[in-house]
Amino acid sequence: TTLGVWDALEAVACPILSVHVSEAGRLGVARFSAHEQKVPALGYVVPYHTLQKTLYEKMASHKNVFVKSIQSVDAIDLNTNTITINQTQKIQTDLIIAADGTQSTCRRLLAIPVIEKNPKDIAEIHTLTLSEPHTHTAYERFTEYGVLAVLPLLEKNKMQLVWTMTERIAEKIKTWDEEHRLQFLQQTFEGRLAIQTMKKISEFPLKTLIAKQQTLSSFVLLGNAAHTIYPVAAQGFNLGLRDVSLLQQYFLDLPLYEKKVSTHQKKIYNITSELLGLFELPLVGCARGAGLLNVDLIKPIKNKLAKRLMGMAP
Ligand SMILES: Cc1cc2nc3c(=O)[nH]c(=O)nc-3n(C[C@H](O)[C@H](O)[C@H](O)COP(=O)(O)OP(=O)(O)OC[C@H]3O[C@@H](n4cnc5c(N)ncnc54)[C@H](O)[C@@H]3O)c2cc1C
Repeated sequence: TTLGVWDALEAVACPILSVHVSEAGRLGVARFSAHEQKVPALGYVVPYHTLQKTLYEKMASHKNVFVKSIQSVDAIDLNTNTITINQTQKIQTDLIIAADGTQSTCRRLLAIPVIEKNPKDIAEIHTLTLSEPHTHTAYERFTEYGVLAVLPLLEKNKMQLVWTMTERIAEKIKTWDEEHRLQFLQQTFEGRLAIQTMKKISEFPLKTLIAKQQTLSSFVLLGNAAHTIYPVAAQGFNLGLRDVSLLQQYFLDLPLYEKKVSTHQKKIYNITSELLGLFELPLVGCARGAGLLNVDLIKPIKNKLAKRLMGMAP
């Protein structure tokens, strides 16, 4: 709503009315509901290309925004605040913001070091067809074969599966055929989802990549270029939006911006790593004490966590 794009997105957005997080073989469950949190929805699932197109069109529609296509970013000179693009064109400006993704060329040109973890994990995306309509519930299930996040889609009998797995798990299930995979899913969600078919859409390499600095002189790294995190808590894009919102407030004082943005990011990293602690079941699972899945029992913590994941906590 703040960005002025909701009107264009609402028609394609599928509301998530409840979220159910659980772990195979353990009793702990965390349940969140829009009703309990007194919000119309905990979140929305929107097609990524529609989101990108809508944001782009909105931004390009501003009279004072000049859009220039870039084939390459070739050099950045911090002494003169000049960036060289398309080999020969130079742009001089008071503030340069780079949001060029995980493999950020700008970050490399500025020689900003990164902390990188788990470079060989992957996420597979599948579309699931159900024999009954979904109930706008999103599921996240931690199993010995990876993390299964199932999201409701606009078409009532379709859901999207994001199957996150380590290299070790990917190797283990390499021999599973479609039938075996479907059976595994059906068993995992038995009694909750009537899954009829699954169809693989795409696959992404996953990593955690955190830039050690997000500002340098008059330069700012933003979004995945500054922080690429695992999708288990569905917070990557949200973090980028938070960067934008804070930058809008503190762009005249970049060290203060970095301080503010890092404080918020650390809270999200903590939630993501706690969830990732469930990843290598049963190795870690047994050793874990009171964790996220016990959150259902502690209402104030649960409410705070729900607000943070909805992007509504400071
Ligand atoms: C499987 C999966 C599921 C996810 N689910 C969620 C979720 O549910 N919720 C959530 O909040 N986040 C989620 N995320 C994370 C989210 O997708 C990212 O955080 C988000 O896309 C980051 O946006 P970005 O604009 O910073 O980077 P990107 O989306 O990577 O965009 C960077 C852009 O920069 C362009 N670019 C790069 N180099 C150059 C160059 N030299 N010149 C010009 N352009 C350049 C690229 O073409 C690209 O368009 C998920 C991620 C994955 C992999």
